[in-house]
Amino acid sequence: MGRNVKNGSAKGKKKKPVVASSTDLFSRYLFWTDNHGESLEKLWSKVPANIGQLIVTLAMFIFGLTVRGEWLLLAAYFAKYLQSGGDANYKEETDELLDSFSSWIAFRFNGFTTVLIWSTIVSYLMYFGIGGFLHWYYYINRRDKANEWKCQPNNWLTPALERHEIMVGSLSLVFGSTISAAFSTYIMNGGPGTKVYFQPGDFGYLWLALQGPLIFLYQDYMTYIFHRVYHTPFLYKNFHKLHHTYKQPTAFSVTAIHPVEFVNMQLVLLLPIFIVPVYWFTLVVLFSYIYYHGIVDHSGINFKRHWWQPWQPDCIFHDNHHQYFHVNFGFNMEIWDKLHGTMRRKDRIYREDIYYGYGKKVEEATEEEMKLDREERHNENPLAHSENKNDYLLD
Ligand SMILES: [Zn+2]
Ligand SMILES: [Zn+2]
Repeated sequence: MGRNVKNGSAKGKKKKPVVASSTDLFSRYLFWTDNHGESLEKLWSKVPANIGQLIVTLAMFIFGLTVRGEWLLLAAYFAKYLQSGGDANYKEETDELLDSFSSWIAFRFNGFTTVLIWSTIVSYLMYFGIGGFLHWYYYINRRDKANEWKCQPNNWLTPALERHEIMVGSLSLVFGSTISAAFSTYIMNGGPGTKVYFQPGDFGYLWLALQGPLIFLYQDYMTYIFHRVYHTPFLYKNFHKLHHTYKQPTAFSVTAIHPVEFVNMQLVLLLPIFIVPVYWFTLVVLFSYIYYHGIVDHSGINFKRHWWQPWQPDCIFHDNHHQYFHVNFGFNMEIWDKLHGTMRRKDRIYREDIYYGYGKKVEEATEEEMKLDREERHNENPLAHSENKNDYLLD
């Protein structure tokens, strides 16, 4: 996608519904990005097109990695890597001398409050700074050209839902920062238990080469399974439905998740570092990849996979999950949905009240259901599908 918005085109565009009447912080924030659109655009028009795209990609990358505080964990491992200084016999200090639980806590989580405060500040700066930048770049600046970039160009979150999304999404940042601050101070203070190592050859170069793909497979399959379980009626209605409030997800939706599910998923992703030896840099790559695609998949923008990642679905795959609810449960690989029959099919209709991922046969649907379903399908941007063609249309 190039930058094809000409100077001054903002003047002619339809003004989006403005949220000035509300006085809460989130409304004012959205209102600010809305009203400064034109001056920001003037500034932006001085940036060359390819640099502009690079900035957007980089922004999404940094957003993904910082918003929940994971960068702290990676920074803690990097600091440990520097401390180990290439010494193969490097040993952590021991806590055998600590006689009580409270002194153990004080020793292993030394600095927790400071780290927590800073990680929370960074999370919020990134959420509103970069999230706001992406919101402005596409949802305001390119609003009148939604057909060129938006997965669902005819449908937009209402201002009320935008506020809701930012409120829930920013609340999760506190949980994310707390988990990350606890983990990283524990690691920094030499806490035992994780199997992260710092010398590439420690467990052989074969394991060094294999661990990345194997852990990636584990993480992706486990998140598929957990996500699918969260789509069973009880768990869906009580926890996961919150994330499905947004039929047109945006980058702000990534963390708009029920706290129980949020913590659950973080632990699933982190589990391998307690079970198998992992080289610290493998973790950096894995988490960067997963969180970057978390942003891409929720952006609502027609991003496609690159040639070097044939396993990765296009952005529309998870966008469809939000539009049709109980289908396409995977994240970074399509294969799990293909294997389990939960990948979207042309001859099925999917709605919030049709559970388990298999949809309803088109032949069994009522006239009314078919009518609504046809409309839904027409609301998808063909440019978001592979080869720029929507193969799901029925007529
Ligand atoms: Zn879901
Ligand atoms: Zn989602």
